Amino acid sequence: CGVFGVIGLTDAANFVALGLHALQHRGQEAGGIVSHDPDQGFNSARRFGYVRDNFTRQSLMETLPGPLAIGHVRYSTAGSKGPAQIRDVQPFFGEFAMGGAAIAHNGNITNAEALRRELIERGSIFQSSSDSECIIHLMARSLQRTIPERMEDALRRVEGAFSIVAMTRTKLIGVRDPLGVRPLVLGQVGDGWVLSSETCALDIIGARFVREVEPGEMVVITDKGVESHFPFRKQSSRFCIFEHVYFSRPDSIIGGRSVYENRRQIGVELAREAPVDADLVCPVPDSGTPAAIGYSQESGIPYAMGIIRNQYMGRTFIEPTEQIRNMGVRLKLNVNRALIQGKRVILVDDSVVRGTTSRKIKEMILDAGAKEVHFRIASPPTAWPCFYGVDTPQREKLLAATMSEEEMREHLNVDSLKFITLDGLYRAVGESSGRNAKCPQYCDACFSGEYPVTPSDMIEKGFEM
Ligand code: 5GP
Ligand code: SF4
Ligand code: MG
Repeated sequence: CGVFGVIGLTDAANFVALGLHALQHRGQEAGGIVSHDPDQGFNSARRFGYVRDNFTRQSLMETLPGPLAIGHVRYSTAGSKGPAQIRDVQPFFGEFAMGGAAIAHNGNITNAEALRRELIERGSIFQSSSDSECIIHLMARSLQRTIPERMEDALRRVEGAFSIVAMTRTKLIGVRDPLGVRPLVLGQVGDGWVLSSETCALDIIGARFVREVEPGEMVVITDKGVESHFPFRKQSSRFCIFEHVYFSRPDSIIGGRSVYENRRQIGVELAREAPVDADLVCPVPDSGTPAAIGYSQESGIPYAMGIIRNQYMGRTFIEPTEQIRNMGVRLKLNVNRALIQGKRVILVDDSVVRGTTSRKIKEMILDAGAKEVHFRIASPPTAWPCFYGVDTPQREKLLAATMSEEEMREHLNVDSLKFITLDGLYRAVGESSGRNAKCPQYCDACFSGEYPVTPSDMIEKGFEM
């Protein structure tokens, strides 16, 4: 998911809409904005679909007045079940002591089910099926006085990954979990302050990047400026390494490093670790593009656009019938036949999850007359589900959970298949001596199976680490 908030600008919701549009890659299912105006109080709008199709309509934006607003773009993750429902779309808003609050959450709470059971027993009335709603109820029940104090109190009971943008009637609040699994940055524009999942959304409204919100930090922003608190026990941070591989936008800066440059460097490492003689290096667009550029630069094999992406397809698509669903990949990607025919092709993609994308692409490339197909993957084999906010399927459905690399190669029926090593990935994102096995610098659980936060709800349901 993506979160964004603004304080101190006239019609803050308009800026939030722009910010959410720049964060659309983090969630395409739905979006929402809550604003506050001194005369009109809180207002909220939540819609399915793209930001540009909803939050550009003047009639809707006029209902969101005021100098303070937050927003959320939703991407449903592992925990959510059944068809999408509008009651699960954030931000969540609740009125309670001290005037109430609205919150937008990126990440996943790993003890949400246990918390929900306890809260319901004590009389809380839940409106949604979302893990994030627990936070509002914990805040409402807290015995602390101010809302930031209630929020600290609530979050000390919450386990898992959270980057949160919240608001009260007068304050914009940003928090990151102690491990800092998901990103969150602070920016400034004119007299206003901005919180955003990524820096690319600061650029769109001309805001200046000030700094990242630190792992375990809470920032409370009012018209008097920014206050910083550290409510949690200090731990060493474990940022999601998959943000660098796939999730973040390549024009964002994370930890002082360009996401694009990290991805290009992954390609460089891949070319060193897994060279192969071939005629062309082609990305699986768009997620494989920077790594393919790096692979080509390091290997000296020409880069070419062997697969063309239909720009009018999002990352997700509503697939009504079985027949159309089977066409899925072809609706989005097509082979540049004239280029591929008779060539030995290296295909670079960011990840193999179920293997559906790679299988279909391989078929298309062979149909187009390629002589050889070599897959190079910009992440290690995805063998474990993510419980911290990325939608990976159950373990059984992950190709790498049940097959060795050679079995995957046979299954995909390609001439060769190589994944970057975990150490190579760490080197590419700036850790020159690779992964510190005693104390890994990142979360890499989907590759290593080492979960930095025990996923207690899942363990209760029988998940074995
Ligand atoms: P597969 O087809 O193997 O199941 O999935 C791999 C493809 O899905 C890759 O091309 C990758 O770009 C994309 N992908 C990887 N992670 C995610 C994710 O978390 N969400 C979505 N929607 N796509 C992903
Ligand atoms: Fe990121 Fe993977 Fe960790 Fe999930 S399990 S937070 S995707 S590194
Ligand atoms: Mg892809």
